[in-house]
Amino acid sequence: MLYESTRNNTVKIPAAKAIVKGISEEGGLFVPSSLPGISESELKMMENLSYSERAEIVFTKFFTDFTQEEISYCVRAAYGDNFDVPEVAKIVEVGDAQILELWHGPTSAFKDMALQILPFLMTTSMKKIDNSDEIIILTATSGDTGKAALEGFADAPGIEIAVFYPENGVSEIQKLQMATQNGSNVLVCAVTGNFDDCQTAVKKIFTDKIITEKAKNNGKMFSSANSINLGRLIPQVVYYISAYVDAVKNGTVKMGEKINICVPTGNFGNILAAYYAKQMGIPVNKLICASNENNILTDFINTGIYDKNREFITTISPSMDILISSNLERLLYHLCGNDSGKITEIYSALNENGKFAIDENVFMKLKADFVAGYCDDKETKEQIKETFDKCSYLCDTHTAVAVRVYNDYREKTHDFTPTVIASTANPYKFSAAILSAFGETAVSDFEAAKRLNEITGEPIPEKIAELRTKKVRFTYSRTPDLLPEYVLEKLIS
Ligand SMILES: *Cc1c(COP(=O)(O)O)cnc(C)c1O
Repeated sequence: MLYESTRNNTVKIPAAKAIVKGISEEGGLFVPSSLPGISESELKMMENLSYSERAEIVFTKFFTDFTQEEISYCVRAAYGDNFDVPEVAKIVEVGDAQILELWHGPTSAFKDMALQILPFLMTTSMKKIDNSDEIIILTATSGDTGKAALEGFADAPGIEIAVFYPENGVSEIQKLQMATQNGSNVLVCAVTGNFDDCQTAVKKIFTDKIITEKAKNNGKMFSSANSINLGRLIPQVVYYISAYVDAVKNGTVKMGEKINICVPTGNFGNILAAYYAKQMGIPVNKLICASNENNILTDFINTGIYDKNREFITTISPSMDILISSNLERLLYHLCGNDSGKITEIYSALNENGKFAIDENVFMKLKADFVAGYCDDKETKEQIKETFDKCSYLCDTHTAVAVRVYNDYREKTHDFTPTVIASTANPYKFSAAILSAFGETAVSDFEAAKRLNEITGEPIPEKIAELRTKKVRFTYSRTPDLLPEYVLEKLIS
């Protein structure tokens, strides 16, 4: 199995190389040239396997350049008692839907599902391709990726990691999670701008000839822990397959019967993984893309026009405050029949005019698999309160967006297909916003967490509670234009 670049389909490389590189030289993302299949008998066989054993089966299909021993080592190292439930990814029935809890890892967000394994995939890949350069991971984050990447890569051999987050775009708890990170190879810096500014600045460094040259001369190279890295994407496919197996096992569907999958979406990585699971053969009816008020994807899926000439809105679901969804490029590449010329054209239009439109036939293909909806902060809070009152289930602000969008979809279309909703964070990561859904305010996130615990009885994750007294190590802040200089000074010279 080879991976090709969305901006030049003659570039075809094995998985190990794609994972180490992160992004292709001409700025394209690596995608599988075709998706492997998964059969009903394989799914049946998975019923009695652990999460890491299920992951091993899926990875064997994608990482054909890895040995069985290498894959087995990576999955065992990643999916063990660092997750606080034995299922790793757990399905819970809430109201009319199956909630897939993806936040039982060490940083309480779904990013752990991929970032607990990426460091093992990367160090294994480095050995496989005889890479002797030290790797510098540059990561732009809207809050959750940063902490999950730091936690995964802290003290990983031969790797340094730097994380950049929007100064006013993350919750108090998210900020503290990053600023208190342990490890001798980690660096955290706030950026005075929004997430798109962070992501654009980091992408520029990756393709900056002078900086990459200097790094090379110092025995270093850049890579990425963002969802543009293939090693993030493939681990996310596993939990959709695993969820289907569990839905059959718990009687929600019969083997072969379809499900819908609803995903609270930002950078489009999570829902793209669900699309891959569908392409592999998991019976899926609709993929429901849920957005907050930054509803650029809702408009795109409904009209075929992507237009980022709009206000960036800061919401209570900050991990979805994104106007340039990186992984959409991968979906468009597949829908355009692996036509990298077309993708280059589309993305230069986006670069020049902040806008592009897709052809009618591509739009029809998009509509066949995807539907989309969005809600604002007020509706998100109403949903949190309603889900708690009706089902005694406390969901976080991002998950609540998905629950709301799903309820609207179900009501409007009368599509009663059993539905899995991806739950992407533990509610205590966003305590203040969630407390306000109960009509109360608090002086800090910690006070809010305490009060939420009193109201709902939901336990506070230990790793969040202990942040209160943990020492802050990083207080840097930079404007986006100063990031290249900062990276040179701190990481390269
Ligand atoms: C990252 C994140 C999302 C968005 O996921 P994408 O893969 O970027 O679409 C949603 N919710 C939470 C809590 C997240 O951390």
